[in-house]
Formats: sequence, C-alpha cells, structure tokens
Amino acid sequence: MRHEFKSRWGYVFIRCLKGVCPLFPNLGFPQQRVIESKYFTLEFPRECELVEFAQKINVNYFLQMDIPSSDTKNFDSIISKTLDALYLEVSDILDIHIYSYHGKIKVYPNKEKLKENVFRNYPGQKYNLPSVYIHSDNAIHISLADLTLGMLAHEIAHAIISHYFVVPPPAKVQEVLTGYVEYSIRKSAGTLPSR
Ligand SMILES: [Zn+2]
Repeated sequence: MRHEFKSRWGYVFIRCLKGVCPLFPNLGFPQQRVIESKYFTLEFPRECELVEFAQKINVNYFLQMDIPSSDTKNFDSIISKTLDALYLEVSDILDIHIYSYHGKIKVYPNKEKLKENVFRNYPGQKYNLPSVYIHSDNAIHISLADLTLGMLAHEIAHAIISHYFVVPPPAKVQEVLTGYVEYSIRKSAGTLPSR
C-alpha cells in the first residue's frame, strides 16, 4: 500500500517535472510564454521564435525601428508596443475606439496545431484556417507559419466589431469590414504586391 502510494506520487512528480501535471495542470514548466500589452495578452509557444513573430507583424513599420537581432531582452516590450499600435490603427480605420478592450492572442506553430487545439470542438467541420477570432472566449487564434500583418489586423477587426455592436453583425458583413481593414493596413505598411 505504502509503496503504491509512494510510486503514484513519484509518477505525479515526474509528470510535473515534465510540465504536465495531472493534479495541478498549471504547475510545472509553462508551455507558453505570456506577453502582456494594454489591449492583449499574447500566449506564445515556447518552441517558436519571437523574432519570427516580430518580423511577420512588421515591428519596424509600427515602431519605426529595426528589429534588434542581439538585444532580445527588450523583445517583450517591442512586441507589446507593436500589438497596441496595431490595435489603435485598426480602431482608426474602423473609426471604432474601445479603449477598455482587452483580449487574447494565442499563437500556434502551424495550422495543424491550431486545428488540433481549437477546431477539435467542432467535429465534422473541415476547418483548416490559419487564423480565427472566437468571440465566446474573446481570443484570436493564429498560426505562426501562416501569419501576416494583414491577417492579424483582420482578426483584431473581428474582435473590435464583435465588442462594439450589441448583436455582432452577420459573418458576411463582418468580412467586408475586416477585408477593408486588412487591405488598408497592408497598403500603409507597403505589403501589398506591386503591380
Ligand atoms: Zn474574417
């Protein structure tokens, strides 16, 4: 009995060391890096590189600076400032300003991981999207492999629209607005393909 008890706790301890604790799932090593900004809580997978995220959301366009390749200590603040600047730019394009807004951005390494974590709750549906905003958990889910500035702006626009209207507009109306935001951001950041 005593031996069984001990080995069970030994098992729990080892699982906790590996970061997967069956009793206290939040203990152990965190699987994600969390960056807070005024408007967002960013959850970023530990196995991915923040520099890739920073490049893809055009940090240099928003902060008018080059991404420091060696100085990664200040990376959290560079990313949080960029996310807030992007939020304010999307708000300006929509002319909807919700200064009390705060939502989540959850990053996954790729579409497969996003599908596994988010769309498994929708069996039978063939979701294979690189990004999605889910209003019920106020979260943008996005694949790092597919991420673009326009894509993140599009999802932020969904979040703002859904919070502004008491009854969120129908999907097709939202797509027209979010498509316009995506186009405008890409135009000002210079990421539209040249003709
Ligand atoms: Zn959309």
